[in-house]
Amino acid sequence: MTGTRLRVDPVACDAYGYCAELLPELIGVDEWGYPVVSSGAVPAKLVDLARKAVADCPRRALALVDAPETGAPAPAAVRLASSRRG
Ligand code: SF4
Repeated sequence: MTGTRLRVDPVACDAYGYCAELLPELIGVDEWGYPVVSSGAVPAKLVDLARKAVADCPRRALALVDAPETGAPAPAAVRLASSRRG
């Protein structure tokens, strides 16, 4: 069984980071404010929040796409998200 992962279209993204506020567990931001998303599968407990982040993206730049079965959250994205909480 495969899951889903997040993908950002950097051309469409406005870099305000709204998605990172909605889903800090999987989305951090880089030094310019562009989202850095986990490259692994979205954990089942976060799928609803991921769908909301996708639906609420004002530029339609965030998407859920098929992920390989073995994917795991990227430590860098999680680290970025955690560091934003203070
Ligand atoms: S909500 Fe959409 S437009 Fe805004 S930073 Fe996230 S991906 Fe980019």
